[in-house]
Amino acid sequence: MTPTPAVQPFFEEEHEEFRGVAREFVAREVTPHYAQWDAEHLMPRSMWTAAGGAGLLGLAVPEEHGGMGLTDYRFRAVLDEELVRGGALGVALALHLNDDWVLPHLLAHGTAEQQERWLPRILTGELVTSVAWTEPGAGSDLRGVRTRAVRDGEDWVLNGQKTFIGNGISGDAALVLARTDGRAERAGEDSFSLFLVHRTDSPGYSAGKQLDKMGVRASDTAELFFEDVRVPGANLIGAEGGGLRQIRQLLPQGRLAVAVAASAVARATLESTLDYIRERTAFGTRVLDFQHSRFEVAELTVEVEVTEAYVQRAVHAFNAGALDVVGASKAKYWASERAKAVTDRCLQLHGGYGYILDYPVAQAYLASRLLTIFGGTSEILRETIGRDAASTG
Ligand SMILES: Cc1cc2nc3c(=O)[nH]c(=O)nc-3n(C[C@H](O)[C@H](O)[C@H](O)COP(=O)(O)OP(=O)(O)OC[C@H]3O[C@@H](n4cnc5c(N)ncnc54)[C@H](O)[C@@H]3O)c2cc1C
Repeated sequence: MTPTPAVQPFFEEEHEEFRGVAREFVAREVTPHYAQWDAEHLMPRSMWTAAGGAGLLGLAVPEEHGGMGLTDYRFRAVLDEELVRGGALGVALALHLNDDWVLPHLLAHGTAEQQERWLPRILTGELVTSVAWTEPGAGSDLRGVRTRAVRDGEDWVLNGQKTFIGNGISGDAALVLARTDGRAERAGEDSFSLFLVHRTDSPGYSAGKQLDKMGVRASDTAELFFEDVRVPGANLIGAEGGGLRQIRQLLPQGRLAVAVAASAVARATLESTLDYIRERTAFGTRVLDFQHSRFEVAELTVEVEVTEAYVQRAVHAFNAGALDVVGASKAKYWASERAKAVTDRCLQLHGGYGYILDYPVAQAYLASRLLTIFGGTSEILRETIGRDAASTG
């Protein structure tokens, strides 16, 4: 495939050097074991410590805490591309939760003491985190969260239930959104706070059953239960009552990350599909040589390139500190919907083999189905984009 040349390549030499490290890591530590992790719905801690050892975790952690301070999101994009290319979609999801949803809160709102306590362990893979916002009764509408934290001396006492929590079984600590205003009526802007809650030293904290996901199965997803869990006051992240504002402030990175992953899934799936239909024959000809297939490939190629250009623009905006929630929502909406459509059409080009889970296209199809749901559903994103469009001009 000949891509339309970019006047200025998106990735520079330093990103390509980093790609070499990421590719070698995926080939050595992930690909040989991935099918087993996928079957067991769990990956071992050794994957995290190996990723930490290779310098692939917590890229944005500053040097003073032992990190590399790589705030240029293109490095994260390279890592995502390499995991997706290696078919390790579950690993990409698990790392994404740790690095794009939890870490930004610790970097932006953690105190010096908290950063010193947690960041070095995140870098080595000794501390694996989850983001725990969603509850059985509240997903899109986080003001419906019912988990409560009540002050008791220096501590908080946490009660409630979360669901769909990635790394919920394998992780060590969860960034929990809990109601802290003590009121009974519908929550307001200042009703919630965020806490990093450790599983190991917290009696009353338990993970429920492993949820049986249709895709990205190597990453565990679970319910979490908190029953009179004592959380030290020193584990409050940011201001009391500031939880929702902090989430909104850092939403652009989470949504951008999904857009980047979606773009990578679309690209990798198109390429593996081309490989397949170049080889596969029917009626004495390669499937690629049917006019219908060429038209499909033409449309898919353009869709993938347009998506890449749009997502890359969002990455540049993020790097410049200019990506707001609306911009990130647009990128996520576009890229995740394209990934869903591209993987569906690529699956069709595979015929029956596309339906078999051993084929990358089947895994990509199932994974991309998640991308329009989590981190903000496409409906919520369209609300955000539409409201902004209606309020300007
Ligand atoms: C595999 C997986 C992993 C996940 N990982 C995590 C995680 O690690 N941590 C975490 O906290 N959460 C996680 N989630 C939860 C995810 O973010 C939520 O599922 C998502 O935000 C949607 O919430 P919901 O499932 O409660 O759907 P609901 O909010 O009940 O939505 C149901 C439907 O109603 C639509 N809808 C809702 N509100 C509106 C509206 N205002 N206008 C129009 N339509 C609307 C939605 O778009 C959707 O189609 C995960 C989910 C999945 C499936």
